[in-house]
Amino acid sequence: MNATPVYLDHNATSPLRPVAYEAMVEALRMGGNPSSVHRSGRRARACIEGARGKVAALVGSLPAEVVFTSGGTEANNAVLTGSGRKRVLVSAVEHDSVRRVVPGAGVIPVDRDGVVDLAALERMLAASPEPALVSVMFANNETGVLQPVADIGRIVRAAGALFHCDAVQAGGKVAIDMHGLGIDYLSLSAHKLGGPPGVGALVLREGAPFSPDRVGGGQEGFRRAGTENVPGIAGFSAAAEAAVNGLDMADWRNRLESALCELAPAARVFGAGAPRLSNTSCISMPGVRAETQVMALDLAGICVSSGAACSSGKVGPSAVLEAMGVDLSESVTALRISFGWNTVFGDIERLIAAWRDLYVRVSQSDISRPQAA
Ligand code: PLP
Repeated sequence: MNATPVYLDHNATSPLRPVAYEAMVEALRMGGNPSSVHRSGRRARACIEGARGKVAALVGSLPAEVVFTSGGTEANNAVLTGSGRKRVLVSAVEHDSVRRVVPGAGVIPVDRDGVVDLAALERMLAASPEPALVSVMFANNETGVLQPVADIGRIVRAAGALFHCDAVQAGGKVAIDMHGLGIDYLSLSAHKLGGPPGVGALVLREGAPFSPDRVGGGQEGFRRAGTENVPGIAGFSAAAEAAVNGLDMADWRNRLESALCELAPAARVFGAGAPRLSNTSCISMPGVRAETQVMALDLAGICVSSGAACSSGKVGPSAVLEAMGVDLSESVTALRISFGWNTVFGDIERLIAAWRDLYVRVSQSDISRPQAA
């Protein structure tokens, strides 16, 4: 086995970029509470305000619209509970930090590729005069499928509703112009783009209604109480700056998918009919459960996820693939492969070779017999 591990699980978390590490070390050395008025505090404050500008540049917002949070989960929760809208509509493929926040939220269906049904969204918005909050993600964490965000923004605006977009997986991968797209609230997470875990941002369009649920100091313009995580924010902004031009890895992803589908013609790429992030591939290995694939590839020195990985590390049925109408027997065979800033072409070739070895091995053994989900 080649000694260098291959990490192809950037949608779970992306390794820390060296520039982010450097910025964090510098901020840790610097110390200071940004709310203090003395020089030490002023230095920490300057670090945060510089960071705000870099994060704003990633999504086309004003720096003052950026509120630093502890990550994507907090940002998503804060909008769903704090927009003031009681009627909430979320897409069927949202991350749990959106999908599970408001009990009784309306669920907007998706098509077989995982793309939001725009006609259904229009019907749902028209079904009640009560103003709504609509939450639809920019890009899906399991399949990489990109939503028609500009169309959603237009529909939502025309209905007098507010639009939240979870851009945790899209930030630093595709261009985002939050204002041009009609987004009122946008969530980001540092560790998905090469920053540290435990820090992110909620970008609030100027004038968008928002009541925070935290009580405490007046940090972040009274929008998020609590002393700011200065080293985390410094690392986040350095990673955001490095990621500002996005990722274009479509050639490598196409090479990977065509090689795997050639090896196993019954393999299926989920969301293949829709625009997708160029770093993500969610693909089935016919007849082989994802846990088996993840373990075998790990033994071969390759880190990937099951398509349905959940936070506990266990594999459950994927709500995303289910919403796309994929049978359970097929969705349990879905593997998620996601590239990132430090991926090299040789990583893809190693994955193809290890995937082929496993597929050939199991095709010749009992494991390839249909297994109970
Ligand atoms: N939203 C999406 C689409 C995600 O993929 C994730 C993390 O996997 C989150 C939100 C949560 O972000 P965080 O880990 O920063 O809380």
